[in-house]
Amino acid sequence: METTVNLNKINGLLPQLDCGACGYKTCNTFADFITTNPDEIKRCIHLNGKTNELKDVLSCHSCNAKGMGDKLGWKDSLQREFDFILDCFENEPGPKETILPYNPTLVKELGIKKGDVLIGRPMGMSCGCPVTHCGIVTDVDPRNGVIYWCVTGPLTPRSQSFIDIGFYVSQAYEGIIKESRSEIRLGCRYWFLPRRCMLQWRHSGLVNAVTRLRDGSFKVRVEGLLIG
Ligand code: SF4
Repeated sequence: METTVNLNKINGLLPQLDCGACGYKTCNTFADFITTNPDEIKRCIHLNGKTNELKDVLSCHSCNAKGMGDKLGWKDSLQREFDFILDCFENEPGPKETILPYNPTLVKELGIKKGDVLIGRPMGMSCGCPVTHCGIVTDVDPRNGVIYWCVTGPLTPRSQSFIDIGFYVSQAYEGIIKESRSEIRLGCRYWFLPRRCMLQWRHSGLVNAVTRLRDGSFKVRVEGLLIG
């Protein structure tokens, strides 16, 4: 009941323009998203002074006492079970990925460098997502044509110039596991939900680096990615 009231309040504070600028087709679906991703309210560019009020509602302790995994019943938007939620590092603008363009020579040809804004789609094997992704380059390896980037929402390329790399392959995700319902073990394959996944679809990957942090969370690297 409390969650429903909260969602109604959030919807009441959103502009209800359904303009799609936040990456969601309707304000309603964006409201669902920010319930578990309150830092993302900046994606709505029409808040007009409602930001603080919205932040207050989203920080309501009783509504956020349960983690996102529990709230979702550990099922993705297509009702498929998953094991953990992958969060991004706190000091980074979005989920950290290692990607390989289908034509790796583009890295040299286009002179891609740290700080560039890119768009592209992760086609085929690893990981077949239908959504065009946007991100900011954090590093490059021109010899191997590999790019390291943090995935962001569509606002960055809309507000400044960007480079379109076309199709690419996601080789690895790095992030933090704060919520899990399974023991995290090196060498095991898991189903997981990237917290900021717009489609809220589960992904699969093999954990090939894991460090337990002081607060009990895990820093992990996940490779062999697919959606399913
Ligand atoms: S950007 Fe704001 S107004 Fe537009 S759909 Fe998203 S939440 Fe609604």
